[in-house]
Amino acid sequence: MRTQERTEEQRAWDIASTVCDPEIPVLTIEDLGILRGVRVLPTQAADQPDGGASSTAVEVTITPTYSGCPAMDAIGDDLRTAFAKEGYASVHINLVLSPAWTTDWMTESGKAKLEEYGIAPPSGMAAAGGHSGPVRLSLAVKCPQCNSLNTKELTRFGSTSCKALFVCQDCKEPFDYFKVL
Ligand SMILES: [Zn+2]
Repeated sequence: MRTQERTEEQRAWDIASTVCDPEIPVLTIEDLGILRGVRVLPTQAADQPDGGASSTAVEVTITPTYSGCPAMDAIGDDLRTAFAKEGYASVHINLVLSPAWTTDWMTESGKAKLEEYGIAPPSGMAAAGGHSGPVRLSLAVKCPQCNSLNTKELTRFGSTSCKALFVCQDCKEPFDYFKVL
């Protein structure tokens, strides 16, 4: 019995982890680290005696990224679609705001995909050093085109509030930088 449950949860996790971030379509919600948990809810056998897998419900726990990112509705819709396609009856989205998401939760493969996509991944650890507050640690941001560290911030707010717009002073290409949080 335990083994079956584990398998079902694993399967549900795999389905949830195929959902991509609407703003950065190369990253899944697992890559971003906002997918925190997937739980298969106990089936109410009385409701659907012949329901089988179709009566299975799941609860997906998500910690959203920056509060300014209006992506949560889209992610919720995509999760419902993904689970419906696999025959699940319903998806309950559980939003957990605390502890707050940080870029440290982004996976290494997620950062690599981000860079390939042309967005400089967050550099440095948000949690390290305790430099919270207005003092911002200036780490060199690497140009995703030519790898130069000779880059300059143009504006703190790029195409979305998650990103800052940078320009490379060597290859002159502007690029987005996914800010450390
Ligand atoms: Zn460059």
